[in-house]
Amino acid sequence: MINAPRGTNDIHPPDTSYWQYIENKAHSVFNRYNYKEIRTPVFEYTELFQRGIGEATDIVEKEMYTFEDKGGRSITLRPEGTASVVRSFLENKIYGQPQPTKYYYLGPMFRYERPQAGRYRQFHQIGIEALGSNDPFLDAEVIAAGMNYVQELGLNNLKVLLNSIGCRECRPGYVEELKKYAAENKEKFCSDCKNRLKTNPLRILDCKVEQCSEALKEAPLILEALCDECEEHFRQVKTNLNRLEISYDLDPYLVRGLDYYTNTAFEVKYTGLGAQDTIFGGGRYNGLTEEIGRQSVPAIGFALGVERLLLTLKEQEIELPVETGLDVFIITIGEKARSRGFTLNQELRRAGVKSDMDYLDNSVGSQMKMADRQNAKYSFIIGGNELQKGVVTFRDMKSGEEEEIDIHNIVNKVQTYI
Ligand code: ATP
Ligand code: MG
Repeated sequence: MINAPRGTNDIHPPDTSYWQYIENKAHSVFNRYNYKEIRTPVFEYTELFQRGIGEATDIVEKEMYTFEDKGGRSITLRPEGTASVVRSFLENKIYGQPQPTKYYYLGPMFRYERPQAGRYRQFHQIGIEALGSNDPFLDAEVIAAGMNYVQELGLNNLKVLLNSIGCRECRPGYVEELKKYAAENKEKFCSDCKNRLKTNPLRILDCKVEQCSEALKEAPLILEALCDECEEHFRQVKTNLNRLEISYDLDPYLVRGLDYYTNTAFEVKYTGLGAQDTIFGGGRYNGLTEEIGRQSVPAIGFALGVERLLLTLKEQEIELPVETGLDVFIITIGEKARSRGFTLNQELRRAGVKSDMDYLDNSVGSQMKMADRQNAKYSFIIGGNELQKGVVTFRDMKSGEEEEIDIHNIVNKVQTYI
């Protein structure tokens, strides 16, 4: 017996229907916002993530699935989507086309983490990236598209946390202030944060350890250190969210730890029934394209974890409207009827009817039970009698009513019923 690797999941029916539903919803909502799907490889050269995610991050420090291929190149299974999207945008010179470029993606991501509920080694993300514009209308659109997506899945108690982390002009000065503050209060921070002070000081702001949140209470705030341009951009983002009636809470501790992240940072949380689950999060990354290629292209996006979204939907007992039943189950008695049922099954399917039959040569009684178990709306019963008369007994599974219908008309007839 060989088991699946630790931290991976098989997704079985009926769960696959939920997956299809949320994937289909992503296609339909994001298409409505005029975002187009992009598909990039699930592996890339390791360097892309080292540069595109940054060395001083949990992902690059500890979580990457990296291996050497037969040609001796270092390859990494993608831990997130943005770096690949940006790589593709630059490599294919999409910036040469009219802008902005609005993409969405969905697919598996890989991180070597300690598996636990909601944390896997292969998991899935859905995200959007809008490249080629710094327009604060776009920041609001990206947040609105994400909100609309999860609202259409049935999540309604949502809270947007919003911050601006400035730009390369104003942030360095702020980071110096923060470092100074943290150095003066060093003993109050956790050991990870003491390290972060050297590698990625902004990251101490969103440390989840309680002593650090306490230690940060008196710390300088980035929102008070923004340059005029960043302040104006942020003001407009807020105005645009107001225009869309999307309410938000300012969270000055919400950061993205890396230099190429700029301006808007946000997180959307579900707050229903005692929950505080992050559903998606993202922000602007006006400096990232320069990190990966030569062009400077402003951009903004978010990513959403599908497994955690499903956990929240489940915990909140939000049912997704997925239809799994059959239209027709064909019940046959005897070898001849079975052969006729077999060809009728194909005719039904070609006519757009969802149908099935028994493949274990079961008794009529068990075939009836199967029709029930499969949630069939109707069953077609074909026995010697029906064959002789050229009819099918058409049974409404709910009411139990039966009528005989000409076998040549049955496909047309059932089409009008479904
Ligand atoms: P966390 O703080 O939980 O480790 P993160 O900051 O690493 O999350 P991001 O890199 O922002 O997460 O990824 C976006 C989303 O992807 C997360 O909000 C989460 O829903 C999902 N996600 C991240 N890592 C995993 C994982 N190992 N398994 C399942 N989902 C994950
Ligand atoms: Mg993580």
